[in-house]
Amino acid sequence: MKYGIISDIHSNLEAFEEVLGFLENRVDQIICLGDIIGYGPNPNECASLVRINKFPCVAGNHEYGAENIIGIENFNPLAAVALNWTCRGLSAENFNFIRTLPPRMEFEDFEIVHGSLKNPVLEYITNIETAAPTFKLMKTPLLFAGHTHRPAVMSKNNGKIEGFSINGEGSFSIGENQKTIFNAGSVGQPRDGNPQAACAIYDTNRKEVFLHRVSYDISRTQGKMQKAGLPQRLIDRLKTGS
Ligand code: ZN
Repeated sequence: MKYGIISDIHSNLEAFEEVLGFLENRVDQIICLGDIIGYGPNPNECASLVRINKFPCVAGNHEYGAENIIGIENFNPLAAVALNWTCRGLSAENFNFIRTLPPRMEFEDFEIVHGSLKNPVLEYITNIETAAPTFKLMKTPLLFAGHTHRPAVMSKNNGKIEGFSINGEGSFSIGENQKTIFNAGSVGQPRDGNPQAACAIYDTNRKEVFLHRVSYDISRTQGKMQKAGLPQRLIDRLKTGS
C-alpha cells in the first residue's frame, strides 16, 4: 500500500492541484494532516477537493480558528487577517465539513496529527525536546505530523532521539525497532527556504517514506491573493518559501 501524505495546503489551489496530479498515479490513498484553509486565496476550492475526494484528514489550528474552538488571538496578526477573510467566504457546506475533522487518526501501522500527540492541533514539534513527549505517547512505530511547514524526520532508538530537517527530496527507511516522527512539510506555504510544494509517499511494503517537492505556478496564486487584498507579506513569502 502506498499513502500520499499532504499537509498545510493553506488555500493554495495551484500548489494543491499540482501535488494531487503528482500523487495521482503513484499512491493508493491520500491523507491530509490539516490546515486545509488559511493564508491563501482559495479556501472553498481546497476544502471541496478534500471533502469530495473523501481524503482522511485531521483538524489543523486554522480549522480550529475558523470554528472558533481557539480564539483569533492565538494567531499572528497576518494569519488572523487571512483567517477572518477565509471565514467570511467559507461556504456552509465546507464549514460543516471542517467541523467534522478529528484531532488525530490511526491507520494500519501509523498515526496522523497536525501538531503533536501531546497537543494534537496546536503544538509544534521543532526539536528533540518538543518531540520527546510525543515519542512517549506513540502507539504505532510511525507518526506523520505537519504544522511547522518544514519537512523533517526524527527517530527514537533505544531511548536516544535524533532528528534533522530534510533539504530537497529524499527517501527515509522506517526502522522496525524504532519510532519515527515524519513531518511532511507544507503543500501551500513552505517555510524551509524552498518554495516548491512538499508532499510525502509512504510505502508500507518497503517501509520507506519519500519526501517530494513539486513546482507550481506561484505567480498565479500571488495574483489571486493580491486581488483578494490579502497581506503583502503572505503574498511575498510564497516566492521565497519563508
Ligand atoms: Zn499551517
